[in-house]
Amino acid sequence: MIRISDIIDKITEYNPEADLGLIDRAYVFSAKVHDGQIRLSGEPYLSHPLEVAGILADMKLDLVSVAAGLLHDVIEDTHATAEELGDIFGPEVLHIVSGVTKLSTLPFSSAQAREAESIRKMLLAMANDIRVILIKLADRLHNMRTLQYHTTQAKQIKIARETLDIYAPIAARLGIFWIKNELENIAFKYIAPDKYTEIENLVAKGKDERNKYIETVKSLIRKKMDENNLPCEVYGRYKNYYSIHQKMIQQNLPFEEIYDVIAFRVILETIPQCYEALGQVHALWKPIAKKFKDYIGMPKPNMYQSLHTTVIGPFGERMEIQIRTREMDQVAKSGIAAHWSYKEGKTADARTAEAFAWVQNIVENQAHIKDPDEFLENVRIDLFPDEVYVFTPKGEIKSLPKGATPVDFAYAIHSEVGDQCVGAKVDGRMVPLKYQLQSGESLAIITQKGHQPSKDWLGFVKTVKARSKIRQWIKTQEKERSLSLGREMCEKAFRKVRLNFNTFTKSPEMEKVVEGFGFKNLEDLIITIGYGKITPYQLVRKMIPKAEEEGEHPSLINRLIGRVRKKKIGSGVIVKGVDDILVRFGKCCQPVPGDSIVGYITRGFGVTVHRAGCANALKTNPERLIEVEWDANTQEPFPVKIKIRALDRVGLLADLAASISKNGANIISAHTQTREDKMVASFFTLEVGNTQQLDQILSSLKKIKQVLEVERMG
Ligand code: MN
Repeated sequence: MIRISDIIDKITEYNPEADLGLIDRAYVFSAKVHDGQIRLSGEPYLSHPLEVAGILADMKLDLVSVAAGLLHDVIEDTHATAEELGDIFGPEVLHIVSGVTKLSTLPFSSAQAREAESIRKMLLAMANDIRVILIKLADRLHNMRTLQYHTTQAKQIKIARETLDIYAPIAARLGIFWIKNELENIAFKYIAPDKYTEIENLVAKGKDERNKYIETVKSLIRKKMDENNLPCEVYGRYKNYYSIHQKMIQQNLPFEEIYDVIAFRVILETIPQCYEALGQVHALWKPIAKKFKDYIGMPKPNMYQSLHTTVIGPFGERMEIQIRTREMDQVAKSGIAAHWSYKEGKTADARTAEAFAWVQNIVENQAHIKDPDEFLENVRIDLFPDEVYVFTPKGEIKSLPKGATPVDFAYAIHSEVGDQCVGAKVDGRMVPLKYQLQSGESLAIITQKGHQPSKDWLGFVKTVKARSKIRQWIKTQEKERSLSLGREMCEKAFRKVRLNFNTFTKSPEMEKVVEGFGFKNLEDLIITIGYGKITPYQLVRKMIPKAEEEGEHPSLINRLIGRVRKKKIGSGVIVKGVDDILVRFGKCCQPVPGDSIVGYITRGFGVTVHRAGCANALKTNPERLIEVEWDANTQEPFPVKIKIRALDRVGLLADLAASISKNGANIISAHTQTREDKMVASFFTLEVGNTQQLDQILSSLKKIKQVLEVERMG
């Protein structure tokens, strides 16, 4: 069992000037409050905090971390209170110990495997001081080292599983690979003891041969580096058993065929040397193209830097080689912990400072930011800049991209919940659907049966799932609408030639015609008619060529077709999501480019466009509403009716007409009524390009002598 003097020795080794008073007090306090408690191993409970503090000292962490390690279980497991701890050891130690306590009480063990990643992230995000996580990892490491004392196998497996799912990946994320490897190895031993023993034996069996192989490869690399004046150290070591096991599963290979159970590492002095060494390795052995990774140019978020390459080795085998500087190797070993390690005089050189910049920010913030929530937010942003974590009402964690909204959340739960979502409550308070979710919020979606997604949602959703589900819904809607519209158009067209469309739908002639148009089935043809790409009269003509021959209806049909042809298609308006649909304009309100407009699907004749406020449009069934917009490229003039009230005088009408022409508009019709009291009401139908031109005309008309009132009709 480790003793406090061992820990003090470790600390004085890397921090000779350390004021050890804090450690002494923490030890005495911990010994006092844990007195009488024993571990499952039969040892006094104090052995556990001592071991944890020892691991933290091995990581060369600062005094506060080691002291907090000695005290990490006192709030949870003894009568000691947080107040007491704060009074004796100050706010920093209290803050860290409270953080560790808080994490221990979270029900992580109930986690299902698929949620493990979210839990790992949540855990990291919630620990507002990374030292909390470092202590938690040291705590877990010692608990794993003593897992054999747990009496039931079920309990051992449960803890091992949790370690593998949550703690080992966190250690990897923070770059502390020695802890990650040890945690994985122990957990593997308990979860799959047979497999563990098998790999242990396999590694032992061919050991001599493989050691020879390692030496061969090492000397080949060293020789090549010597030739090129690249001073280096070369290492070859076995990967941990769990990694080997995973490789066997992933690559579906027996142990004998897995060569990369051994990882080779070349350590050099400078970055340029690393790239040079890489070139030499590739000159020696053929690289596997896709397996090269440059983590020097693009460091991992945990600051890991290295060049990774896989080559075809001297015996035709795949071989993994990592190349990095000594400094990078140091970081690779201790990861984020390197930052809290004691540094004499704190003279980290500029390059280290750069590499550790974001962690240093966290540390600086720690000193300056008073609001713990704000600090937590910073840590979260630094570790996972692009994600937010929110809870379902049942406490499940959902991870969403930053900026995600309740609609994204609803679709993440279920497509149906998304489709029918009408509102959302965040922590019990109603929020708009485009509200941007924040980490830690708890969210309830309000649904309404039969409710349908809105196109507007596409303007704010962030997830691919929500976006594609909404698009899919719109597409289906448009298809359905075109189908019923197309059917109505066909029925009407057939009625005009005194035929019943529905009696033809299952006829063999129809089948041929459908084929002739190049469609798989009638439905597709009807949809295309609904979209306006084919007119119903084209179908009529194909269906009754016989009638034409007999001269029964040809004039009528040709007249109909002619009429349709004359009709402008795509006349200045874009119907969203539909190409080439027949568009007409409401005579009631005569929309002009610049007016806000709505489209309505009519029975039989495509879409009619009205001005947004038109009384006729408002009367229409809202289900027939379709989004339309002006085609910015349109050059067409549009008819619009205006009314002018004036006192009659000689030359009035001529002045009005001149003013209109001067503004570039064509007069289609004019009509004037003069009353006995000399009041004149003039009605003009003009052709204008847009509302801007119309407004110009109206205002210049107002300026004409004796004109009292000018207005647009409809
Ligand atoms: Mn503990």
